[in-house]
Amino acid sequence: MSQLTVSQAASLYIAHKVLPPECEALRGEVREFLARTLPFHRDAVPQTFSAFDPAFSRKLGEQGWIGMPWPKQYGGHERSALERYVVCEELLAANAPVLAHWIADRQIGAQLLRFGTETLREKMLPAIARGELYFSLGMSEPDSGSDLASIRTRAEKVEGGWSVNGRKIWNTAHHAHYMLALVRTAKSTEDRHAGMSQLIIDLKAPGVSVRRIRNLTGVEGFSEVLFEDVFVADDHLLGEEGRGWKQVTTELGDERAGPERYMSSYQLLTCMIDAAPADNDRTAVAIGRLIAEARTLRNMSVGLAGMSARGEEINTAGALFKDLGTTFEQQVPDVASDLFELEQLDQTAPLAVSLRRITQMAPSYSLRGGSREVLRGMIARKLGLR
Ligand SMILES: Cc1cc2nc3c(=O)[nH]c(=O)nc-3n(C[C@H](O)[C@H](O)[C@H](O)COP(=O)(O)OP(=O)(O)OC[C@H]3O[C@@H](n4cnc5c(N)ncnc54)[C@H](O)[C@@H]3O)c2cc1C
Repeated sequence: MSQLTVSQAASLYIAHKVLPPECEALRGEVREFLARTLPFHRDAVPQTFSAFDPAFSRKLGEQGWIGMPWPKQYGGHERSALERYVVCEELLAANAPVLAHWIADRQIGAQLLRFGTETLREKMLPAIARGELYFSLGMSEPDSGSDLASIRTRAEKVEGGWSVNGRKIWNTAHHAHYMLALVRTAKSTEDRHAGMSQLIIDLKAPGVSVRRIRNLTGVEGFSEVLFEDVFVADDHLLGEEGRGWKQVTTELGDERAGPERYMSSYQLLTCMIDAAPADNDRTAVAIGRLIAEARTLRNMSVGLAGMSARGEEINTAGALFKDLGTTFEQQVPDVASDLFELEQLDQTAPLAVSLRRITQMAPSYSLRGGSREVLRGMIARKLGLR
């Protein structure tokens, strides 16, 4: 097993034959670009979603690898969803610093194309595709996470727009220009999913304050944002007033189905392969099982990318996939701890560094993007539970 190099292992993990030839040609280009551009190696501290690097995002924009499937008239490149998939998985495999542009590329662009006005699309999409305009997601609030329909941030109608008051938490506003926020625009009615809307809020507007929050790994990965009489112009309402719930649930399908929902422990898995002793059947079997599971998950995720590109609704399938994917991602550090005793390792070795970091991060995998318990309840209802 230890004779297997990291890149051979990566090839096992990323099963080539699933995708058409043009995707594999692109994969070669992306790998060559990443090898040339990234100053660190894939077995460094896993940092993909904590590393904010606008210069790197701009370089990806120059390559045409942000907003890939969007129409050319909005700065996109009219490439297929599967080509975009290849770029995403190579970025994750290379531990690339993608935080700056990831949210806008993954879901804001698609929301603007589905629901945005022509003015909003023209204003935002080309800058996103250049890797210059960054978004944060404003769903969760201090007292509303799983029960998102209980949000209290309100937008009152004023002349020419809206006045927003409230709080959003667990977002990345400190690294973003705008927040796509779910807010209440009408008084509560009997239907608790009614009366919500999506607003695009400029995070530099008067009345916005951003407080950073340090996470378990010591990184200031989150923000809490306070809105005090923040003015948002009418033309920054995304989609229809009162249709926010329906819009946001569409967006969550895109958020849950991608490769980041099963590749968060990728660096650790490759370190495990590198460190595995030859002639140890127990280690070989355990790692082999993980690779087999990863390949299956990847096939599901590629399938969902295709469904979404065809305009098919993927909310339930995406939730099901995310539950399976995050269970796998959380299993990797458990298996690693079982096979390699952390205390016995050289603490500066890639395996020890990666295992320590992933062990701290893993609990968040099944919370972000909707918690495991809540997703399972949603799936059960969609499968017919009354
Ligand atoms: C790394 C990370 C990134 C995030 N990024 C964003 C972001 O960009 N934007 C944003 O808006 N939010 C973001 N979030 C917030 C995330 O969406 C919430 O943490 C998540 O929805 C859970 O909400 P909560 O934290 O309020 O926990 P709670 O809702 O209080 O839940 C706590 C626990 O109780 C369980 N629980 C709650 N209700 C039920 C129920 N009815 N049945 C069974 N169990 C239940 C949950 O599953 C969970 O385990 C992020 C979170 C993390 C960890």
